[in-house]
Amino acid sequence: MTIPYSRQWIDDQDINEVVKVLRSDWITTGKKIDEFEESLCRFIGCHFASVVNSGGSALDLAVQSLGIPKNMEVITTPFTFLASSAALLYNGIIPVFTDIESGTFNIDVEKIQEKITEKTRAILFVDYAGHPCDIDKLEKVAKENNLFLIEDSAHALGAEFNGTKVGNFADLTMFSFHPVKHITTGEGGALVTNNRELKQKIDMLRSYGVDKTPTERVSTYKFDMKYLGKNYRMTDFQAALGISQMKKLDRFLKRRIEIAKMYDEAFESNSLITPQQVKNNVKHAYHIYTILLDKSLSRDSIFASLKKSGIGVNVHFIPVYHHSYFKFLKINPRDFPVTEDVFSRILTIPLYPKMSDEDVQTVIQQVNNTVK
Ligand SMILES: *Cc1c(COP(=O)(O)O)cnc(C)c1O
Repeated sequence: MTIPYSRQWIDDQDINEVVKVLRSDWITTGKKIDEFEESLCRFIGCHFASVVNSGGSALDLAVQSLGIPKNMEVITTPFTFLASSAALLYNGIIPVFTDIESGTFNIDVEKIQEKITEKTRAILFVDYAGHPCDIDKLEKVAKENNLFLIEDSAHALGAEFNGTKVGNFADLTMFSFHPVKHITTGEGGALVTNNRELKQKIDMLRSYGVDKTPTERVSTYKFDMKYLGKNYRMTDFQAALGISQMKKLDRFLKRRIEIAKMYDEAFESNSLITPQQVKNNVKHAYHIYTILLDKSLSRDSIFASLKKSGIGVNVHFIPVYHHSYFKFLKINPRDFPVTEDVFSRILTIPLYPKMSDEDVQTVIQQVNNTVK
């Protein structure tokens, strides 16, 4: 039997909540959407949340809602899932990649300044694996250069920087509820903010740019399309699943951190394995657990033999500019030496709340044996 690198945890309580909505009158744009948004705000400690049909949609709306004109530039990391760069391209904006730190694999804030031009309008940063970026420094660069901050926290629901949860720093912070993430709604995502105007604009953009909510439209036929919006709405039965999953989030996070600790301790004495570095002013949310293999090892052959022995390893991530679609940006990989080096040696090992201690021990043994 294979131990996957990640998987959801859905119980009977979750299923009952979904079924209740399916039997009700409102299966989309109803009360469960507000309730899920309130639950996210309460957990994060922020003012506003807007849930949508995917994390990628949330990123698209983040970029669109800030009104950044076409052909402007946004600084971002190449060491992530392609969704963040795609969101920029949907809006006609040029992604400008900056290399990453060798310890946390987050964007290297020290290297951002040299990428700023008169066309730069924002920084779109990603809390890799659930480790928050250096937000103090990012806020400083953003302020000095009058840039927006967009945070891709698809990995970081529940993570903290200097004791404050992510979702309270950037102009807009995005979360994903894909089954491998901290909580799931099947597909789904959210944007959170403390800016009321942005919240209102995003709520219109997720529903064809129309200025009245379906509830408001019960009593009038009048409404107005103010923006070129899309249908990025989440259904109420997904929101019901989200609300039910939120009740377990603290427990899920606690277990993720517990498993990460077991891995940390197990690999401490293995000089061929270096786990992701964790800075002391953060709480890591551990969406994934990644290890760097020694330069003397072949990541691809270790990947293959672990797969063969039933360990669901993965590689996060193929640098965005490696994908053929991004060829037109004419990126030279040699300009990103840290990203290239980390990509060649990184491995994601299984981590999800439902994983038993026994599973964890199996992974540890197999990994240690395979690198030997
Ligand atoms: C999962 C993920 C996304 C996209 O989320 P979807 O809900 O799958 O669209 C974006 N960025 C990162 C870093 C992710 O891991």
